[in-house]
Amino acid sequence: MIHLDHDIIIAPATATGGALCIIRLSGEGAIEMCDSLFRGKKRLAEAKGATLHYGYIMDGEQVVDDVVVSVFRAPHSYTGEDSIEISAHGSRYIANRIISLLTSRGARLAEAGEFTRRAFMSGKLDLSQAEAVADIIASDSRASHAIASTQMRGGYSEELRSLRDKLLHICSLLELELDFSEEDVEFADRQELSRLLNELLLKVRSLADSFSLGNALKHGVNVAIVGRPNVGKSTLLNRLIGEERAMVSEIAGTTRDSIEESVNIEGVIYRFIDTAGLHSTDDRLEQMGIERTWKALEKAHIILWIADSADRDIENDLCGFIPSPEQRIIHVINKIDLLAKEDQLTTENQDEKFIPISAKLGLGIDKLLAELHTIADATNALRGDVIVSSQRHYEALRKAQESLVRSLDGLHNGTPTDLLSEDIRQVMYHIGTITGEINSEDILKSIFSSFCIGK
Ligand code: GDP
Repeated sequence: MIHLDHDIIIAPATATGGALCIIRLSGEGAIEMCDSLFRGKKRLAEAKGATLHYGYIMDGEQVVDDVVVSVFRAPHSYTGEDSIEISAHGSRYIANRIISLLTSRGARLAEAGEFTRRAFMSGKLDLSQAEAVADIIASDSRASHAIASTQMRGGYSEELRSLRDKLLHICSLLELELDFSEEDVEFADRQELSRLLNELLLKVRSLADSFSLGNALKHGVNVAIVGRPNVGKSTLLNRLIGEERAMVSEIAGTTRDSIEESVNIEGVIYRFIDTAGLHSTDDRLEQMGIERTWKALEKAHIILWIADSADRDIENDLCGFIPSPEQRIIHVINKIDLLAKEDQLTTENQDEKFIPISAKLGLGIDKLLAELHTIADATNALRGDVIVSSQRHYEALRKAQESLVRSLDGLHNGTPTDLLSEDIRQVMYHIGTITGEINSEDILKSIFSSFCIGK
């Protein structure tokens, strides 16, 4: 359980095994508590905020370790409280000993995410910024980092909060009208309300629409490599990931199971899935592989549909698969090296529908990667555009969008003021859950419990 109190909390902020270990301490009295163990040139209790102090952590007259202590004074610290960071040598023994010396003086071990929760409670971060802290720590590519970093710096929350405040103002005027219902007065400017609701709807819709991109870039873009047996799917996978992971063979049906490999290409994580070739077969094992291929197709963001340069009717050859509107297909013709020179040239000059490659010789792979990057639409994310990548925000945005549409309908159709104001309250509620103006113990618990200890 996360405690809502003013205890001094303590936790290691670094994983064990590194050269240094940092122990964090936060809460009123944290500086004095650390000072009682510290021996240096100057007393920490007298130190200014944002200063570093070299000295020893002492257990009585015994030196535990020589350390550098950072002192932060409220409100200029991560949590907004008096805080200390002790940089010691990276030994688990030293960390445990320092922590137990401080807990014996009254500090409590911090819960997961409790430092960030305190930062949220003291108004240092709003909720969406606090969530981005966890995303920053988890980010494993330039794209996922760029999305989290934009969100942590305020991203969309600033704009949403200001629109919500304006709406709150108009809504209170609407509700005032209810108190004077006998007198038929209008305090809230309906035109202004309509303009504001439309502005918010535009914003909310574009944020919600960015989610499928944000989610893919955060967790990796799924790319299924699909086609008939023997067209060169495994060879292409090996070429893309740069190693012999998938077995290549001339016997059709070699890839009986799907093989998944993640590769970071220019800042974006692509998860390539090499699938069993799609064809009819009596072999039970192969059938199972083909079933998995259909599943891989369903969860793919992008489908690389591979055909052999010797095949005819390439364009329509999707083996009965119907892609969803969000899925993008790249048609690839492989083995162009087997074509006569003049045919190779015609293939290369063909319109943009097919990308001619030779997986074996590495021809055309740059063009294929460029196409992947364009379709994954990573450029905007890498440029720092505001993109939603949190499932929680996406759901709140969708609900806000529904309430906005209802409010606008109500406004134009002359819905009674009390019902209209109820819909607008719903809009404000859902937006408020993103930025944290509306929060509940349950929401906070589920958000911060996914953090690591010490953050
Ligand atoms: P899969 O069944 O679709 O995974 O096909 P494989 O990757 O196992 O390849 C089938 C055969 O085609 C192997 O003998 C590969 O060496 C060969 N092959 C794959 N790509 C090329 C290519 O670009 N050019 C040529 N000449 N052969 C290729």
